[in-house]
Amino acid sequence: MEVWLEQDRATALQDVLQRITSSKFIMVDDQTLNTADITGVFKAATMADATRRKNGQWSCQHGGWHDKGEQCGCIAKDEAALIAKRMEAIKACGKCTNGFILTGVEAAKCECQMP
Ligand SMILES: [Zn+2]
Ligand SMILES: [Zn+2]
Repeated sequence: MEVWLEQDRATALQDVLQRITSSKFIMVDDQTLNTADITGVFKAATMADATRRKNGQWSCQHGGWHDKGEQCGCIAKDEAALIAKRMEAIKACGKCTNGFILTGVEAAKCECQMP
């Protein structure tokens, strides 16, 4: 079962659960709970994650969520953002036209392209 509580009430509930040694009926928000039915007290974020997992979504190592069967495209997204940022830098640069500066025979990376 799930009971949604505000942070301070959840903390109070956690306090009660830690003190009791056997299952009891307790009052929480005008509801009577058997503590034996409580599997845990979770943060809303944890609950949201659990709901997503229940819906078949999975979280990748980049912290993104993907639908079941969907490939992780987070790196590609990051790369696209990086490329867009570099294009912006070139536009604002004024010293180069493509991110490189010709020094004699060599092309050096323009300073606008430094991280
Ligand atoms: Zn991903
Ligand atoms: Zn530049």
